[in-house]
Amino acid sequence: MQRLTNVYPQFRWFKLSIATLIAIIISTCDATGNLYASLPPCADSYCDCSDFASQALAQDVLNAFEDDYYGLDKDGNGQACEHLPQTDLTLDRATYFSNSEHLTFGNPSNAAQDNPDNFLIEREPYALSYNKARNVLNWASWRADQRWLGSVDRQNDFRPDGGGLPKGFYQVMPGDYRRSGYDRGHMVPSGDRTLAPRDNSLTFLMTNIFPQASANNRGPWRELEQYGRDLVQQQGKALYVIGGIYGDKGKIGDQRKAEKVTVPGRVWKVIVVLDHVEDDITPRTPVIAVDMPNSDRIEADWQAYRTTVDRIEIATGYDLLSAVSEDIQAVIESR
Ligand code: MN
Ligand code: MN
Repeated sequence: MQRLTNVYPQFRWFKLSIATLIAIIISTCDATGNLYASLPPCADSYCDCSDFASQALAQDVLNAFEDDYYGLDKDGNGQACEHLPQTDLTLDRATYFSNSEHLTFGNPSNAAQDNPDNFLIEREPYALSYNKARNVLNWASWRADQRWLGSVDRQNDFRPDGGGLPKGFYQVMPGDYRRSGYDRGHMVPSGDRTLAPRDNSLTFLMTNIFPQASANNRGPWRELEQYGRDLVQQQGKALYVIGGIYGDKGKIGDQRKAEKVTVPGRVWKVIVVLDHVEDDITPRTPVIAVDMPNSDRIEADWQAYRTTVDRIEIATGYDLLSAVSEDIQAVIESR
């Protein structure tokens, strides 16, 4: 090859055009071959009306399959899941800039202090967006690397958030989960914050907890948490993690109280794997994206739920990794 280009300089152009041709073929295959790329992740296995953040997304899935494959249009009027909010998902305007290390690569929903359903809580060990109407978080974002790991025991002090939420917000109590059939699932794992007792204890605030199907919490979700922790402990990697929930499977709560906690239909997580804490994200940075049903009918292997960041963005309406340049996002979010 080398000698050929020396003798015939034009051959370089020929090689280039072959490369271009191959690139075009690959991208066309991807566009036509992967019918699901523009659909929410549930379309890969099983979708229920509880798996969608809006009616429009349910409609997209209904329209994508012949016959009503997932039973989203039980009354047969051509409309999927009519009881869901009709509106397209829209992102709040960015009104606040954070210096938190947990938001270095973006604030997925532009959470701030003005929209109670997208309310930003920043703490030393993590940042999260809380939803007043649902009484549960939207997403959390946190660094997971050796700086946060030590030998502190699991504090187990589940308790209402208190000062993290303004007046007028219901303070979810550990008792709201009693006899609900759901685990008090951590978004930011206790196991990622074991250096200082205080940091570990902050993961037990009820704003970091969501109603999680136990087979999910103790199955693939935990396996994925452990997989990430192994990357940190065994390979010295520095993770940047964003995790969240969406969809609505109903409510749980204390019978004597009007306020209820929404049970999400889906749980998702994006893990950016960096070599060093201070690294930037490049087109070659490994990114793991998963989106699982919040259900006891679930595969044990988290790999079964791998998807793309792009599809989590479709399902949630967020812009993940928004502080990363558009061309790098385009590469790492679609693969
Ligand atoms: Mn858990
Ligand atoms: Mn993005």
